[in-house]
Amino acid sequence: MSRFLDAIELIRYYTMARRRQRFRSHSELRAQQQRRWQLLQRQVTTHAPFYAPFRQRAFDDFPVIDKQVWIRHFDDINTAGVTLAQALQVATEAERTRDFSPTLGGIAVGLSTGTSGARGVFLAGRTERLRWAGTLLAKMLPDGILAPARVALLLRAGSNLYDTLAGGLRLQFRYFDLSAPFFEVLARLDAFQPTILVGPPSVLALAADAVRAGTLRLAPQRIIAAAEVLDPIDAERISATFGTAIEQIYQATEGFLGHTCGHGTIHLNEDCMIVERDWIDRASRRFAPIVTDLYRQTQPVIRYRLNDVLVECANACPCGSPFIAIERIEGREDDIVWLSGATGAGRVPVFPDVLSRALLNAAPTIADYRIEQHAFDALRIAVDPVLSDDQRQQVSHALVECASRAGARIPQLSFDARIEHSTSRKCRRVRRLVDSGEGPHA
Ligand SMILES: [Zn+2]
Repeated sequence: MSRFLDAIELIRYYTMARRRQRFRSHSELRAQQQRRWQLLQRQVTTHAPFYAPFRQRAFDDFPVIDKQVWIRHFDDINTAGVTLAQALQVATEAERTRDFSPTLGGIAVGLSTGTSGARGVFLAGRTERLRWAGTLLAKMLPDGILAPARVALLLRAGSNLYDTLAGGLRLQFRYFDLSAPFFEVLARLDAFQPTILVGPPSVLALAADAVRAGTLRLAPQRIIAAAEVLDPIDAERISATFGTAIEQIYQATEGFLGHTCGHGTIHLNEDCMIVERDWIDRASRRFAPIVTDLYRQTQPVIRYRLNDVLVECANACPCGSPFIAIERIEGREDDIVWLSGATGAGRVPVFPDVLSRALLNAAPTIADYRIEQHAFDALRIAVDPVLSDDQRQQVSHALVECASRAGARIPQLSFDARIEHSTSRKCRRVRRLVDSGEGPHA
């Protein structure tokens, strides 16, 4: 298929996505979702063996699936006749060679992040890639695709998804592979002089450090964080250096899930997907999203439960969007720290974001940190720069208070961990390295 036809189709999806942005009411949105769902249901129950028994069933009857089920039924869920073995071979070869262009007969393969063995494998056909690109452009470039912009995409894993963003005369995209030496990435950034900078916040923070140190000249008008939890410690460094608020894209191999509006609130893309909330803690408005992508057909994403913790806003966003408003994305559900209950019965969750904030409040001079649950009822803490005895006591006190407020037994704290920096690996500041012993629904 020629690039010219691709461009025409991309612009069509771009125009459609811009039109969908105008939804003002929940009822209008629900009606559109229903129409799309009926089309999709007909398609998938005809072409995906896994869904064949659900032809006459209601949406709620479709099984909620997670990554394990997704992988187990990979061959029956996709409608293109691709086997898991074929897809894995293409994806792992691409990660090894850093050449993300090979496809399986035009179908691109992507791996979701996660420990090896627990990674999701996702397929996207040509039309789906163009639709993805058109939607992303419509939502992220409010001035339109004819306005001049130089967009730098700092990415850990490339994908031929990103090649779809070819750009035009006045709109340019450039992809920066973060597995290259970072000084090279910085030199290329300096030469490109992006007006829009997109990347993982921990890497954007390093670029901000280079600007402050005078080794990098950069004055982007917009900064967009993606692919990692936006930690307050990075957010502050980045926005103070560049003098602009940080926007966010919530994008994963699973799809383009949401982005910030003009008020800085993340809205989920409910014009393209149905989002159900699986409450993790209703009182604090934390949930894991169960998403149904209304447009993907090569490998239908239906009632797929993501391993992410989202915190819903308490109040409606002033922008008036009917799409679900998210206060923050807290990261992976696997990183929720589970401690023994104070009463001795069961385990209770302590959320990563709560621990981060407590630590940063107790020692505001901290430039970087890690909190790891490496054993039951034990947390290992690393901070940079090293804390004084007084500060260490304050941090201990704050973390102990977090645990007791959550109804947990006081964990053992040690301060002997080291921070490992790597731009090519996803930065997770709070991590659980032991099995929870109990799931969030236990
Ligand atoms: Zn809003």
